[in-house]
Formats: sequence, C-alpha cells, structure tokens
Amino acid sequence: MTLEEQDKKYVLQTYARDYTNFVKGVGSTLYDENGKDYIDFASGIGVNSVGHGNETLTSALCEQAKNIIHISNLQVIEPQAQLAQKIVELSGYDMGIFFANSGAEANEGAIKIARKYGETKFDAKRYKVITLEHSFHGRTITTVKATGQESFHTPHFSPYPDGFSYEKSIADVYKAIDGETVAVLIELVQGEGGVQPFEKEEIQKLAAHLKAEGILLIVDEVQTGVYRTGEFLASNLYEIEPDIITLAKGLGGGVPIGAVMTKYKEILSAGDHGSTFGGNYLSTRAGLAVLDVLSKLDDNGTIDETLVYFSKKLQEIVEKYGNLFEKEVGLGLMRGLRARSADIQGNIIKNCMVEGVIVLKAGRNTVRFLPSITISKNEIDEGFKRFEVAIEKVCI
Ligand SMILES: *Cc1c(COP(=O)(O)O)cnc(C)c1O
Repeated sequence: MTLEEQDKKYVLQTYARDYTNFVKGVGSTLYDENGKDYIDFASGIGVNSVGHGNETLTSALCEQAKNIIHISNLQVIEPQAQLAQKIVELSGYDMGIFFANSGAEANEGAIKIARKYGETKFDAKRYKVITLEHSFHGRTITTVKATGQESFHTPHFSPYPDGFSYEKSIADVYKAIDGETVAVLIELVQGEGGVQPFEKEEIQKLAAHLKAEGILLIVDEVQTGVYRTGEFLASNLYEIEPDIITLAKGLGGGVPIGAVMTKYKEILSAGDHGSTFGGNYLSTRAGLAVLDVLSKLDDNGTIDETLVYFSKKLQEIVEKYGNLFEKEVGLGLMRGLRARSADIQGNIIKNCMVEGVIVLKAGRNTVRFLPSITISKNEIDEGFKRFEVAIEKVCI
C-alpha cells in the first residue's frame, strides 16, 4: 500500500490533501522522501514560527520530554506560570491567561468569558457576539457559527448555538449593537478571509466606542499573534487595549497550544472552565522557547529587517506581474498577493509545489505567505526565485 492509499483508507478525508511526503525540515527548508527541497513560505499555516529543527525549541522539548511531559491542572505547572508571565509582559497588558490546545478552543474560552461577563455585569443578561463577514474563528460547533462565512454554516451540523451575527464592515458594527450585545469578536487582519487588514483608525474608534458602552472587544490573534505582524501582538501594532485576546498558531512553534487572555481576571472561577491537556509541561515549555527566540530577534531588530525585505520582494512581483496580480495585501509576515482570478490563484499554488516553494491560499483569489518569523534572507531570495519560475508558467 502506498502512503496515499493508506491515508485514503484509514484517515477521514476532510482535507483536499497534497501527497508530497516531507521527511525532514531545516529552518525554512523542507525535504521530501526523494530528497527534493522546498522553501517553506507557509510554516504549517503560520505555526512553525521559529522554522523547522530550531535548536532552542528542540532541545527544550527533548529535555522536558525526558522529565515531565504532563501532569494535571490540579497541580501547579511551573512552565505554565512562566509562560503566562512572559506573554503578559511582552503584550504590555495587565491580563490573566487560560491555556487551551488550539485556536478554536481559545476562542471557545473567550466566548465563555464574554457570556459570563454578560450574565454578571448587566441588569439583564447579555450574550450576543457580533463578528465580521469573511472572518474565521474555528471549526467547533460554536466557533464555526462565530465564523462570518455562510458556507461554513452547513445545515449538516445544525442546530448551532444562538447569539452570533455578522456585519459587512466595522462601520456596520455600531448599528448592530443592541441591548443583548456583550462582545464584538474580530481579527485585526483577516487571515483565512483573504489576508485583509483593517484600518488602524477605524479599529481605534471602534475600541473606544465599545469601551464607552461597556461592551467587550475580543481580538482573535490566533493567526496575527506572536510577532506575525511585526509586533508581539497585532493589538500592539494597532495601539488598542482589547478586553480579551486569543492566541494559538505560532505560540508553540508546532506543539499544540492555545491561550485566552483577559483583563477580567475574576470573571471565571474554579470549575467554570478547564482542559485536560491545556498548558501542560511540554506545550508551555515549547511556548517559552519560542518566545525566548523571537523576543531576542525582536529586540535586535532582525524581525523588522525580515519583514521589510519580504515586503520588498512582494512589491517587485506585483510590479512585474500586474497581469496576474491586482495588489499586495497584509501586514508584517502575514502577506498575500491578490490574484486576478481564482484560476490564477489555483495554478500558482500548484506550480509552486512543482518548483519547490510552498505557499497557501486564502479567500477566493489570494495567494498567501506565512513564512516562519526566523526565515533568512537567503531562504527568502531562493523562495521568490522559485516563485517567479512558478508564475512564469501560469498560462491564462
Ligand atoms: C487558524 C485560526 C483559528 C482556528 O485555530 P485552530 O487551531 O485550527 O482551532 C481561529 N482563528 C483564526 C484567526 C485562525 O487563523
């Protein structure tokens, strides 16, 4: 049986999978079983924030694995407390953290905090959460309902939980707020929706309005967090102070971890929320190693240099291939090229695999780039060289 046959026979086919078998990774280069190398501009959908085989991360993991991998949350967990402190300090917000295992779970935690806030802080219970069209918040029954894309709300899985509505734009959010609204949940740069950043002024105005109304601002930083946009959090870049922030993808460098942080530290009490695995020794030790690596690169200016360099390359591509791309979108190392059609997008992504560079899709027509934050200039050069060969071959 081939690997493809094995996968198709035994794994539920919920993904449109590519069958390249990667067997080794070094930095931002992946190798398949035939020894062919690929520049990784996807980093596992923004997860491998320190690349593959990072020495600080792997040795921290090996050491931790040889000692304690897991005990329950009924005992204090030293690296969990340390990671919480580190995240709070890097964020600059006075918040408390709950650790989960994924982005969807972090958002579930955020919604639970918002609902309890809505029940305890107002005379009449508030529970409605407003989100935006083209948003993405996860795949659990609740977070998929929070996701503002009708195609995700298939009747197969109904009934969905009540209390979610979607607005076309930030400007529409104001009108949608009613006496039952408890929170607004947004991504500052919509990732899956097409790498679409919101205007800073618009977000600051919304944040001020929500604060005045006593309504919570929840920022889903599952994709934008952990230096993805150049700052530790996109909320830092937008200079806002959300009430609740969620993190996941880049935080563990590939080890599953999610986090929900809030300034309302007293809302949840013992028994209100929990997770068997969340915040265990292995995942929080991974988070500490990742933040150790990335905070140093932030302090010495390397992250800023990388994103300026990456941005320059994307601009060159857009200028040269105006026939294929409308424009460049995104922030920091969360970037996209808006292709002139979905066909072009699909062809490019396929050609890129052939030429040895991995890119992602987003929205209907965006080619998405989520390289590791530690990607080197040489890897960026080589990746774009291959990318150009791939797009030269796109025939329209
Ligand atoms: C990926 C993503 C999620 C879901 O994260 P999972 O770990 O897949 O559950 C939620 N929100 C945003 C913004 C994401 O990009």
